[in-house]
Amino acid sequence: MGWQNLLEPLLDFVAPPLCVVCRNPSETLLCPTCEQNLDALRIQKPYCRRCGTPLRGWQCPKCHGRSLQFDRARGAFLYTGPVASVVESLKYQGFRGLSRWMAREMAAVVPRQEEIHGIVPVPLHPARIRERGFSQTRLLARELAALLGIPMIPVLRRVRYTRSQTTLSPQERRRNLRGAFALTVPPDQVQGKTWLLVDDVMTTMTTLNEAARPLRRAGAGRILAVLFAIAP
Ligand SMILES: [Zn+2]
Ligand SMILES: [Zn+2]
Repeated sequence: MGWQNLLEPLLDFVAPPLCVVCRNPSETLLCPTCEQNLDALRIQKPYCRRCGTPLRGWQCPKCHGRSLQFDRARGAFLYTGPVASVVESLKYQGFRGLSRWMAREMAAVVPRQEEIHGIVPVPLHPARIRERGFSQTRLLARELAALLGIPMIPVLRRVRYTRSQTTLSPQERRRNLRGAFALTVPPDQVQGKTWLLVDDVMTTMTTLNEAARPLRRAGAGRILAVLFAIAP
């Protein structure tokens, strides 16, 4: 843990306010210009009804031909440019105000056809949380729970430390994450209920799919997911 983690609660108060994206002085976490740029990156129709990825043709580039462990996912933004800066600011600086803003955007796209029993953060490995000082998925899930009036119920935990995913091929990612998640509660507490998984970003969908697997195996009713951003 670096000095930044130790000082972070202080920095929230004493640092001159800068926009988290362009780093120019700004009264708000996102300056008006960056907020406007972000607006253009909102995911709009047409998007895949199952995984929320924007569509260019008829078939979803991401989930076509794959067996999905979750029923429906939706994301607020495309993961690119200033959206990626927002995600990184949350991950590496943990701005509280930012997670609230992100959760509001996520709340607006939550698939809500049925009553959701609990909000489940996609868990990070404890080693990753120690290194970072917090879990950004938990921060987002907590804010989202407050906004939607649905309890956060962390029924998943990470059971294996997985290598960083970024350098792996999709196939390697799948192998790397197989069995990486497990339930924290007996299966009968999951069975038949609708759950909402929360993660910051969906890139290849492997993490989300593997996180949903123990829920599916335990007989969860419906498994929904909401992401702040989805990779195009
Ligand atoms: Zn800005
Ligand atoms: Zn899809």
